[in-house]
Amino acid sequence: MGNRTLAILKPDCVQKNLIGKVITHITEAGFKVVAMKMTHLTKESAGGFYEIHKERPFYNDLVKYMTSGPVVPIALEKENAVEDFRTLIGATNPQNAAEGTIRKMYADSIEANIIHGSDSDENAAKEILHFFSRKELLENYGL
Ligand code: AMP
Repeated sequence: MGNRTLAILKPDCVQKNLIGKVITHITEAGFKVVAMKMTHLTKESAGGFYEIHKERPFYNDLVKYMTSGPVVPIALEKENAVEDFRTLIGATNPQNAAEGTIRKMYADSIEANIIHGSDSDENAAKEILHFFSRKELLENYGL
């Protein structure tokens, strides 16, 4: 899965009606959408996804935010997908994000930062399976 990453258009992206604009940035940067859905995370699912941050002070607020409305998980393909996607979205805190990045253009705060991108090939593979079952990937998306 070295050529894949997982993006999530977060609740603020959906709420601000930016789904189309953000996906256009992604595809114009050379990424191919290979699986996508709109879903509403449960507390358990969001909590599990961010398990790594469980002890962090922002964890409860993060789970609340990620369950505050629908999200759009997207599996993307491109050579060097993980790194190139993180460059495209910019720093976690939009105040530190480079000009032209998705977070610089659209995000409001370090928490409501519009979009998620996997941070390693290993996590990309795990995170894709968080939203898309193996059966679904094979039968619906031919992956
Ligand atoms: P990451 O695993 O780096 O993607 O972090 C997960 C998400 O947690 C980020 O995208 C933000 O939405 C949120 N987050 C990270 N760091 C902070 C922080 N210091 N304060 C509030 N939210 C944060």
